[in-house]
Amino acid sequence: MGRMKFLIAFGTRPEWIKLKPVIDMFDDKGIKYKTLFSGQHVDLLSREVIESVNMKLKIDDGPNRLDSIVGSVMVDSGIWDDDITHVMIQGDTTSAFAIALAAFHRKLKVIHLEAGLRTYNIWDPYPEEFNRQAISRLTDLHLCPTELSSIYLSNEKVAGRVEIVGNTVLDNLRDVEPEYTNKVVVTMHRRENHEIIDRWFKEIDKIAEANKDLEFIIPMHPNPNVQKHKHLLKNLKIVEPMEYNEFIKLLAQTRLVISDSGGLQEETSFLKKKCIVCRKTTERLEGVNTFAFMCPEPEELEKIFNQINADHIPVGDCPYGDGKSAQKILEILKKYEI
Ligand code: UDP
Repeated sequence: MGRMKFLIAFGTRPEWIKLKPVIDMFDDKGIKYKTLFSGQHVDLLSREVIESVNMKLKIDDGPNRLDSIVGSVMVDSGIWDDDITHVMIQGDTTSAFAIALAAFHRKLKVIHLEAGLRTYNIWDPYPEEFNRQAISRLTDLHLCPTELSSIYLSNEKVAGRVEIVGNTVLDNLRDVEPEYTNKVVVTMHRRENHEIIDRWFKEIDKIAEANKDLEFIIPMHPNPNVQKHKHLLKNLKIVEPMEYNEFIKLLAQTRLVISDSGGLQEETSFLKKKCIVCRKTTERLEGVNTFAFMCPEPEELEKIFNQINADHIPVGDCPYGDGKSAQKILEILKKYEI
């Protein structure tokens, strides 16, 4: 692996959380890499994380945010050292797509972490479903979390190697001891929900009012489309977005979770918690009806909550991996020298 030098790029909190176990493994094994922060979300990553990266992109603001992200990546030639051989991106953000495309233009090898997630509905989640499908077209090594994601990629006849490694987010949770308390963690932020956040918040508040024996806690996402409705949450404890380690401690104690997050569906199943998913679709079908319970409309939430609350402990094994993904990735990189 001596000839390999990686550019590891991320631009949002969940990308950082899922790349961190790989970065730690690279440090441990002395594998050469540089990190690039694309700047897609600056407000949810700690200053410490942002200051630790080797390079930062600045996204110029234009009339369309997604255009601006792609454009800023494309025009910044300063990020491409002569000796970079491989580019690792995670997930499905617009910055991950843009960096993968720029790497392809330079004929660099692209490694995609958390490959093969699909809803096959290009508008849900938007724009992520397009981004991940497009990334898969130009990837050399697809690191899939589950067998289902690898099957999707095989059916799509993608080029490159397809490997199942589990989801790296679980590597962060290996030493966490879960317990069940009266806490209910709520998170909500997805673009598809922005238009109806008020309806979600009204329903969640109603449930919190009816269940005074439980403590509902919501780390409030900084997006203005979410923030503007926070006055509707009269019966919840509203807190600032939490540092990852603190959030995981809270998650370990929660009775159940209400969320529209992707990563939380994986984390809750590893921590043996049920998660009500406030979305019409999910690209994480593996855990549905065991760990994850879909709630497509806000008005259905109360009924689903009452059912889950009455029977809150899931039965079964986490379908997203065993918390040893970084080690599997190391073996694959050593074996194939992609
Ligand atoms: N998270 C966090 N602090 C919080 C809320 C969430 O560190 O206050 C973590 C959470 O554990 C998960 C990730 O952020 O790993 C989820 O991020 P988000 O919901 O923004 O994105 P998604 O997973 O939907 O891509």
